[in-house]
Amino acid sequence: MMSKLAIHGGFPEIKKSFKRYNYIGDEEKKAVINVLDSGCLSGFLASGGPEFFGGPKIQEFEQNWKDYFGCKHAVAVNSGTSGLYAAVGAIGVEPGDEVIVSPFTMTATATSILVYNGIPVFADIDERTFNITANTIKEKFTPRTKAIIVPHIFGQAAKMDTIIEFARRRNLMVIEDCAQAPSGKFNNKFVGKFGDIGVFSLNCHKHIHCGEGGVCITDNDVFADRLRLIRNHAEVVVAEKGIDDIRNMIGFNYRMTEIEAAIANEQLKKLAYLVEKRIEICTHLREELKEIEGIIIPFIEEGSDHLYYIFPILLDYSKLLCSREAFVKALCAEGLKAHNGYVTPLYLLPLYQRKMAFGRGYPFCLAENKLYYATGTCPVAERMHKSDLVILQAHQFDWDMEDVKGIRNAIEKVVSFQKELA
Ligand SMILES: *Cc1c(COP(=O)(O)O)cnc(C)c1O
Repeated sequence: MMSKLAIHGGFPEIKKSFKRYNYIGDEEKKAVINVLDSGCLSGFLASGGPEFFGGPKIQEFEQNWKDYFGCKHAVAVNSGTSGLYAAVGAIGVEPGDEVIVSPFTMTATATSILVYNGIPVFADIDERTFNITANTIKEKFTPRTKAIIVPHIFGQAAKMDTIIEFARRRNLMVIEDCAQAPSGKFNNKFVGKFGDIGVFSLNCHKHIHCGEGGVCITDNDVFADRLRLIRNHAEVVVAEKGIDDIRNMIGFNYRMTEIEAAIANEQLKKLAYLVEKRIEICTHLREELKEIEGIIIPFIEEGSDHLYYIFPILLDYSKLLCSREAFVKALCAEGLKAHNGYVTPLYLLPLYQRKMAFGRGYPFCLAENKLYYATGTCPVAERMHKSDLVILQAHQFDWDMEDVKGIRNAIEKVVSFQKELA
């Protein structure tokens, strides 16, 4: 049965393609029709009146999100990116402020800092969880550090206890990027509730979605006001609202529509179920893969939930003879779409290498300390990018037990032929 690799003309191990992850159903359809019938597709207005807070579906969605997460404020926005941008503005990052962030995340986690002319300072990731930690953050701390942005990458909660302890002792603000871990917990508390602001994405790849969308949560009244102001043309309403601190009060249009809010409302009802389902199937996948030599299944930190936005697999070169590229190519031929690594460590992008954001050197020219964007800045992130990490995009598929067996068989087969691939 394992006579030949598919890449060498054998039969692929996985014959049928995986079912696409899609939980948009009748509930969402009905909710959208209701909004269309109402004729009100957005209730927002940049004024001091009640329209400042958006229409009925936005209000309902924010209330539901608040109830679910048990927080004081939820502010809906039109993307996770908008949410991150608004969050950095809300906490008051100013030109030249350093903000510590992971290089191993979606690009907007870090560009949010640049938008306010802050300086992204990249802390390395842990080689087992791929999250930044109090220790790696500590190495990048300077007197200019204003905040930390912590992504819970691949869906695993970062170790928030030590990170928060580190931040509070130094008066640093903390923003959590929860885009990949909605309703994930660390020590039984939802991620997004440890820092000053938690940001979620509702784009079409996430556990739940409304096409494009995002939400910020906070218990801080001032930050909540500032988030809403940045969402909705702050500059025209600050006077009317008697806002005194107008730093970063240039507003944008980050407003979510009523249609998206209506969809998001229905999706939120499915969140717990969908997250549970993903965890269950990926837990089976771990079991199936754990005995295979040459690969290492995802490590789970004590106290951390893993929601498997992505299913990461580490290659163990002490037992594996072939290169990652050969391994991944052979897997793809077997019908398992695997990927070489995740993202390029962000500081290796031209934006940082050439220090070219807004022109005239801004904001990088404001940096008082030496900027470390050179190769070697975060060796673990670079190693994951170059050689050690293979990912399965768990969020794209609706795997069942048969699929899990197929994935196991495909990996087992490729590993068993590693000498031929070397
Ligand atoms: C998806 C994602 C975002 C951005 O969300 P959008 O809604 O696409 O703007 C930010 N951070 C992380 C870690 C993400 O995965």
